[in-house]
Amino acid sequence: MLPDSDIHLDFLRLALAEARKCEPTPTAFCVGCVITAHLIESERPVILARGYSRELPGNTHAEANALTKARQLSQEKLHQLFPSSPPEISVDELLTHADIYTTMEPCSVRTSGLSPCANAIIAANICRCFIGVGEPDDFVKCEGAQRLNTAGIKVIWVKGLENECLEVARRGH
Ligand SMILES: [Zn+2]
Repeated sequence: MLPDSDIHLDFLRLALAEARKCEPTPTAFCVGCVITAHLIESERPVILARGYSRELPGNTHAEANALTKARQLSQEKLHQLFPSSPPEISVDELLTHADIYTTMEPCSVRTSGLSPCANAIIAANICRCFIGVGEPDDFVKCEGAQRLNTAGIKVIWVKGLENECLEVARRGH
C-alpha cells in the first residue's frame, strides 16, 4: 500500500481532474471534489462520489454536488462499492466514515443565498477535509477551513498542488 501522503495526493489529483471539467466563468471558481470512504482502516479508501462546480443545474459548487451525487447512490451500488458493509448500510452512515478532497477551501459564504459547502460538510459529519489551496479573496473572505475546524472536522492542507489548484480555479477569469 502507498504511504498515506501519496494516497492523499492521488485523490487530490482526481479532484483536479474534476475541476478541469468545469465550464469556466469569470464570476466563480472552477473547483473539483472527490469523496472517499473506508469502513476498514487497513483498506484503501473507495471513491463514493465526485463533483465539480456547476455540474448540477444552478450555480452549484463541487463539494455540494459530490454530496448530492453520493446521496443518489442506490443501495445496490453502495453494496458493490463496500462489499464488507452490512446490506442495510446507508449513505449517511458511510459519510460519517468519509474524507472529502477539494481543490479549494470549502466556501463559508454564498452571496447567492445558497447554503455554503462548509455547512453541508459539517451537516454530513464527514471525518476529514483535504484541501488543495485556500480560497483567495477574489470574491468574498472565506472562513471555510476555520468553520470546519471549529465543528471538529479535521482539516488537512495538502502540500504540492497549490499552484495547479489555483490555476484551474481561475480558468475563466
Ligand atoms: Zn461551496
